[in-house]
Amino acid sequence: MAQDSCADHGAEAFFRDLRGAFERTQTDALMLLAWDSFDGNVAIQSEGQPSVACHKGCPSCCTLRVTALAPEVFMVAAYLRATAAALQAHGIDLVARLRALDAATRGLDEMERVALRQRCAFIVQGVCLIHRVRPLACRGHAALNKRACVEAAAGRADAVPFSGPHRMVRVLVQSALQAALRHRGLEWGAYELNHALVLALDDEDAHTQWRNGGDPLASAAVDREFRDAMAAGFDAVAR
Ligand code: SF4
Repeated sequence: MAQDSCADHGAEAFFRDLRGAFERTQTDALMLLAWDSFDGNVAIQSEGQPSVACHKGCPSCCTLRVTALAPEVFMVAAYLRATAAALQAHGIDLVARLRALDAATRGLDEMERVALRQRCAFIVQGVCLIHRVRPLACRGHAALNKRACVEAAAGRADAVPFSGPHRMVRVLVQSALQAALRHRGLEWGAYELNHALVLALDDEDAHTQWRNGGDPLASAAVDREFRDAMAAGFDAVAR
């Protein structure tokens, strides 16, 4: 799979190359390209940098509001449908957990969501059960100090040192994907993950509507006030 490096070309050239690759990629494969590019470039950018403290079984930051783009939402929704029966055989109903969390958090802004300190619906026994398909927002959130992260999640500290490479690569990959979706006439904004997933799961036609240029997840949209500025930024890089 094509993988350009933001270390080799500089951020703007990386953005342009990756956006072009997204524009040529079938919608169902977009996230595979995005995750592949994210993982490869984080590995390159992290060489010689402090190692991250995140590890399997540490869900301390998974109380934050998570945002995701439409192809991420539909990927997670498909994963939930595909794994539901196997998980239910073990007494785990991720969709029921998701609906309960959505009912408790819908409409909360980022700060209100943090203050609630309620864990993500997909954390079971400390493990993210959608880890393979988790959104770019989760992938790009990597702490360098576990104690600081745990303290912040408990409301006892404000400052957590985060991995710069993870953040930078997440922003570049997500922005390139958004610019490509916009270029293709597809809805490219971000959504609050829980609400958007409930919408995607409840309407089996939602994915097709999005592929045809609709916005079936609109009621879960966030940050639309920055839309014009973001679009202008994408166009500026294009020039
Ligand atoms: S999707 Fe996974 S990584 Fe992201 S907040 Fe939920 S449990 Fe944490």
